[in-house]
Amino acid sequence: MTDDVDLSPGDRVALLLPGSTAYVELVLALLAAGIFPIPLDPRLTAHERERILGGLEPHLVVETEEQATALAARIPSVPADPGDLLPRGRPMHVTSGTTGTPKGVDSGLLGEAQAAALVAEERELWGFCADDVNLVISPIYHSAPLRFAMGTLLAGGRVVGLDGPGGFDPATITATIQRERPTTMFCVPTHLQRLFGHWDAVGVPDLTCFRLVAHAGAPCPDAVKRRLIELFPDGSTWEFYGSTEGQFTACRSEEWLERPGTVGRARPGRTLALDDDGTIWCTVPEHARFTYYGAPEKTAEAWRDTPDGPAFSVGDLGRLDADGYLHLDGRRTDLIISGGVNVYPLEVENTLREHPGVEDVAVFGVPDEQWGQRVCAAVVGSAAEAELTAYVRERLAPPKRPKTWRFLDELPRTLTGKVRRDRL
Ligand code: ATP
Repeated sequence: MTDDVDLSPGDRVALLLPGSTAYVELVLALLAAGIFPIPLDPRLTAHERERILGGLEPHLVVETEEQATALAARIPSVPADPGDLLPRGRPMHVTSGTTGTPKGVDSGLLGEAQAAALVAEERELWGFCADDVNLVISPIYHSAPLRFAMGTLLAGGRVVGLDGPGGFDPATITATIQRERPTTMFCVPTHLQRLFGHWDAVGVPDLTCFRLVAHAGAPCPDAVKRRLIELFPDGSTWEFYGSTEGQFTACRSEEWLERPGTVGRARPGRTLALDDDGTIWCTVPEHARFTYYGAPEKTAEAWRDTPDGPAFSVGDLGRLDADGYLHLDGRRTDLIISGGVNVYPLEVENTLREHPGVEDVAVFGVPDEQWGQRVCAAVVGSAAEAELTAYVRERLAPPKRPKTWRFLDELPRTLTGKVRRDRL
């Protein structure tokens, strides 16, 4: 498939294959040649694939590791040492599509200098260096793990964990930690939860090698966060709040302990502002501008000009405290309006999570003739409906109380740990 295709700078190549070293090498080779990789979830159904690829119009689709290796070999400008590479762009990443159709986030209009500024910013924030060994445990097609891996390679460090059986396997990850002694890791809360469950059974490995463990992507349950802080070396654990489009905040765990639940303050070079309804806007430097590929109306909705520079929003809702620390209230599209009252699913979920018989929970709205929408809760755990009904009656105002309960063995989640509300 790759032999007879001529690629030129500016072309797009979709990557629909599991993570491997060959994968990251291909991404770097494509960027060096000015070609845009589009990392995608290899598990997409035929229908999803058609919908996404139709919108992104790639010049080539790479589906196997052999094709990746062959294509990388055909690109003349593959750098001998990735540390020498000045990337000419960033991968075109596709959002998770939890609020609708996935969007292709295109930084392709950036020149070399802007792309280098983004890479330098990231390196400064996370301190990537030649001594780093980055352990990849999340799907590499997602923006944060790929940025961590690329940032490490560009700083001259090493990446481990990619060439395994694929999928999330706590035993393999534990063995890799023991063997490779990684210094950094990006993860989502679901992965932490699964790792901790495994360590409860087999024992906690020596984690003193880690200097940076960052999590993001979905709300982190309080108990998981406290366990993370307890297990990993002091000062090594961070949370950030970000999306495929960009990173808004960063938060050291010490800050979180002082203000439990916060996702931190605006990261350097950014400022946060909230609309009256709580919609979060982030002012960014000009080099962090992006567009949604082929969707000028979505791009226009996402951006507005402010006296401090361009600001964008991805539709999350939040609150800022007096010191500028942000607390998230969920997504605008998840907001339930019941009898004219705004109900934030996250608030109801957090309350239910405190019940000892609730292991996992997702709250969502369904159409209701009388109230417009009514609150539903999907619960994993041992708690019974009558018990939960009594529990929320003591803790939540009437419009926020779930009226319908569903009991499941597991919540439907994306590989990156987000609840698939559309499936609920
Ligand atoms: P789409 O825009 O297509 O619906 P998506 O926004 O789900 O996709 P991502 O970019 O993968 O795709 O996810 C970003 C979202 O994840 C953020 O907008 C926010 O809602 C959530 N998120 C990110 N970091 C955190 C965090 N630390 N705590 C809670 N939620 C987070």
